[in-house]
Amino acid sequence: MVCPPTIVNANNKGTTADYMVDKFNYNAASDTYTCPEGNILTTTGSWHKKTRERDSYQFKKYRTPACKTCPVQKLCTAKVDGRREIDRSQYADAVEKNGLHYKANKDLYRKRQEINEHIFGTIKRQWGYNHTNLRGLEKVNGEMALIMTVYNMKRAINILGIEKLLEKLKKWKPKYPAFLKSNKKQLFLRLCDNFRILNYKSVA
Ligand code: SF4
Repeated sequence: MVCPPTIVNANNKGTTADYMVDKFNYNAASDTYTCPEGNILTTTGSWHKKTRERDSYQFKKYRTPACKTCPVQKLCTAKVDGRREIDRSQYADAVEKNGLHYKANKDLYRKRQEINEHIFGTIKRQWGYNHTNLRGLEKVNGEMALIMTVYNMKRAINILGIEKLLEKLKKWKPKYPAFLKSNKKQLFLRLCDNFRILNYKSVA
């Protein structure tokens, strides 16, 4: 997708900002887009592949022949053939769903940002963990648990200092019996689940 420079139309038809991709409406039932001029962009249904540094994803292209005679063509596209093209990734549905969820729960997302963002920022940017070394949910969970344990220890040391932390750890009385009692049902289901996995692995 090529973004044209910001210019204002002599015919008073707005600016390039009025023809950004978010001004195109997607219609899931017909798998088409409607552009700001009311024309329908369709797809051939073919998937194309875009490769990035560490991953790749697929997308479909949407176009309309109406671009050829469109009075705002120069605002809408800088493509040499004058035809605007919209790309829709295989993840667009999930992204849109997340967008709606965000709009409906802005305060919650803000809170999440305040609490969690600096943790992931530290782990990814400062420590360089922008990907896991292991693969598979179980192993990745283990790797993440180790990283988070180190993060928590470092944070506790920063807040309390080593001496106070050691002091608190010496006095710490974990409430495991109470925890076990209140989570008996969940633990039982977890055990059954683990047994089922073990059983499956030994049969396989
Ligand atoms: S150039 Fe094409 S996509 Fe853009 S507004 Fe005109 S008809 Fe619609």
